[in-house]
Amino acid sequence: MPEPELLPWQWPEETWRAKVERVRAGRNLKPSAWKDGARCAVALSFDVDHETNELRDGGNSVGRLSWGQYGNRVGMPRILDLMKKEDIKASFFVPAVTALLYPDEQRRVIAEGHEVGLHGWIHEVNTAVPPDAERELHLRSADTLEKVTGVRPVGMRTPSWDFSEVTLAVERELGLLYDSSLFADDDPYELVEKGEPTGIVELPVEWIRDDAVYFNMNRFQALRPYTAPEAVFDIFRREFDRAYEEGGLFLLTMHPHVITYRSRIWILEKLIAHIKEMPGVWFARHDEIAAFVKAEAGI
Ligand SMILES: [Zn+2]
Repeated sequence: MPEPELLPWQWPEETWRAKVERVRAGRNLKPSAWKDGARCAVALSFDVDHETNELRDGGNSVGRLSWGQYGNRVGMPRILDLMKKEDIKASFFVPAVTALLYPDEQRRVIAEGHEVGLHGWIHEVNTAVPPDAERELHLRSADTLEKVTGVRPVGMRTPSWDFSEVTLAVERELGLLYDSSLFADDDPYELVEKGEPTGIVELPVEWIRDDAVYFNMNRFQALRPYTAPEAVFDIFRREFDRAYEEGGLFLLTMHPHVITYRSRIWILEKLIAHIKEMPGVWFARHDEIAAFVKAEAGI
């Protein structure tokens, strides 16, 4: 007879302790000063999901697929033109299926000096995929992005920031420089796996600094935009202002099919203008920030 599975309140200490210790935040990697003595680092990122949100769910909705296509037709050109005008390099996290659907789009991203990072195969939810399949999908995604863009990705943002028991092991196998999917700090830190420092830099995310949570909508679920664009701007600006005060990192996650609408793109434009008013801000790609803090910490 197999042992009956214990409920959480019945777990012995080693059970709950082992769960917590699997992936932990290790040393804080916030440097005393950022590159060239900058006071604050700003990392803009765009998760280029396009049609994969619908495909991931196994959906057949032509309408929702067309929403994804908006991200390619309108969203990405609007973002890339703005980045060029402002002379800012950003990071784009791209499911391999997106890169296969729009190889020219991703080649433009690289050609204009931005970074392309891993974002799953088809935006699968890692904790819902068997470990062997998850590993194979990450490896295949890295090869696919490299084949499409000519550049091997060095960072991963897990789809939906969903991080399984094996995700970190696969990131180590891939020799990644950084991850940007976890929440344990405002500033960069080193990921620790079962007590062992991994040398992988975490550039932490937060739902607060993500456009999708304020604006997304689904006709057939109880999901509706609930925050006015002015309020979203205010939240992002306050996140930056305090990061600036503390000399930390301001990392913002956006989506081509969310932030770029005519009534919303101003949020990003005005935020960039506000940030540029402050002296000593280093705008950088995630890979540049991770490499910098790692070198400063001597790891
Ligand atoms: Zn995504």
